[in-house]
Amino acid sequence: MHRVLSLSVALALSTTATAQTPRPAQPPPPILIKAGRLVDGRSDAVQTSVGILVEGERIKAVGPLAQIQGQAKDARVVDLSQMTVLPGLIDAHTHLLLQGDPTAESYNEQLLYQSTPYRAILAARNARIALEHGFTAIRDLETEGAMYADVDVKRAVSRGEVPGPRIFASTRAMAPTGMYPIVSDNWELELPHGVQPVDGVEAARLAVREQIAHGADWIKYYSDRRYYFGPDSVLHSWVNFTDDEAKAIVDEAHRLGRRVAAHAIGSDGIAAALRAGVNTIEHGDGITDSLMDVLVAKGVYWVPTVTVGVYVAGPRGGAWGAMVAHERRAFARAVKKNVKVVLGTDAGGFPWTEVNQAKELEYYVEYGMTPLQAIKSGTSLAAELLGSSDIGAVAAGMYADLVAVQGDPLKDVAELQRMKFVMKGGTVYLCSSCGVAVSTF
Ligand SMILES: [Zn+2]
Repeated sequence: MHRVLSLSVALALSTTATAQTPRPAQPPPPILIKAGRLVDGRSDAVQTSVGILVEGERIKAVGPLAQIQGQAKDARVVDLSQMTVLPGLIDAHTHLLLQGDPTAESYNEQLLYQSTPYRAILAARNARIALEHGFTAIRDLETEGAMYADVDVKRAVSRGEVPGPRIFASTRAMAPTGMYPIVSDNWELELPHGVQPVDGVEAARLAVREQIAHGADWIKYYSDRRYYFGPDSVLHSWVNFTDDEAKAIVDEAHRLGRRVAAHAIGSDGIAAALRAGVNTIEHGDGITDSLMDVLVAKGVYWVPTVTVGVYVAGPRGGAWGAMVAHERRAFARAVKKNVKVVLGTDAGGFPWTEVNQAKELEYYVEYGMTPLQAIKSGTSLAAELLGSSDIGAVAAGMYADLVAVQGDPLKDVAELQRMKFVMKGGTVYLCSSCGVAVSTF
C-alpha cells in the first residue's frame, strides 16, 4: 500500500514538473553527410556523390547530393566526400564477457578467478572496441558463466551510459550436465559452469523461460562436442541433447517469440540442430553438401566464425587445423549453393584487444565471396538473421548506423579494418576531421 501511494505522489510530482517546463529541449540539428561513394548494404551498384540526411536517431533521406542538400538548409555538414560510406557492420556471433579462450587454462582462469563485476567492466571495454571498429550491432551468444551480465551491458549501452553497439543478448546458453566446461575429475568441488546445465524436456522449457525472463533476446544451446574425422573424411561429433530435449528448447523459445542459435561443429551436431528446428548454425565446420541443402530449404543461416577457428587452431592442436581447412572448402561450396552465410567472428574466443572483428570479411573473400557479398553478409543479411528491419542498410527510415573508410572496400575488403568514421543512432563515435562533435565518454 505504501509503495502504491509513493508511486502516485511521484507521478503527481512529475506531472507538475512537466507542467512547469512547457518548452521541451530543442532536438539536435539535422546532419547532412556528404558521401563520396555509398555502398548501401542492399544494392549491387555503388552510388557516387550521395547526400544522407540524418534527423535524430534515423536517416531521413538518401539521394543525389544536390537534391538532398536542398532539404537540409539548417543541417550541420559531415564531409565524407573522399570516403566510402556503408551501413554499420553487424557481428552475429560474439562473447562480450570473454577475453579469449584458446586453451582450457585460459577459459578456466576467467571463470575461477575473475568476478562477474570485473568481467562486466571488461565487457563494457569490449563493447567500445567493437563500436570503434565499425560494428554498430552484435548478437552476443552467451556470457560463459557470467550469468545475465550481457543484459546489464546492453542496458548501459542502450541508455547511453557507455559507448557500444546495439546488443542482442542470449544470456547463459545451455548444455546437458557434464558436457560443457568446467568439468573436473575432482567430484568434491562444485565448479562454475560456462552454461546453464539442462537435463530433460521440462527443465529445458523452464530454462528457456528463465533466460527470457532475465532478458534473453536469443536462445543458444550447444548441439555437440568432441569433434573427429571419420574414415569417410566427414567431420563427426558427439551430440549433446536428445532430440526431445533439443526440440523442447526450440519449441519453447519459438512459442515465446525468440529465435534459436545452435553451436554445431560436427556434421552430427549440425544434423541434430536442424532436426530440432534451430534458426542459425554456429561454426558449422563439418557442414556437408546435403546439410547445406537442408539449410537452404529451411532458410537456416550459417555463421562460420572463421576468425576464431584460425586463432585457436594452433594453441588447441588436435583436429582444429584440419577443421579450419575443411570449413574453407565447405564455405566455397555453400556460397555457390546460396546458403545464407552471415558474418560472425566469435570475438571473445579471441581477445578483443588483439584482432579486429572486420578481419572476418577478409577471410570470406579469400574463401570465395565477392567483397560485396561479404559486406552484405555483415550488414543486410545479418539484419535479416536478427529479424531487425531498421538496421543493416542505408535507406530512409532506418537507424542512422553508418561507417566510412578512406579507400575502396570493393577492391580491398581489408579496408574495413581501418574505420575512419562511425555513427550509431545519429551520434558520431569516431571521426578524424568531419566538423561535428564526437561523443566522448
Ligand atoms: Zn562462441
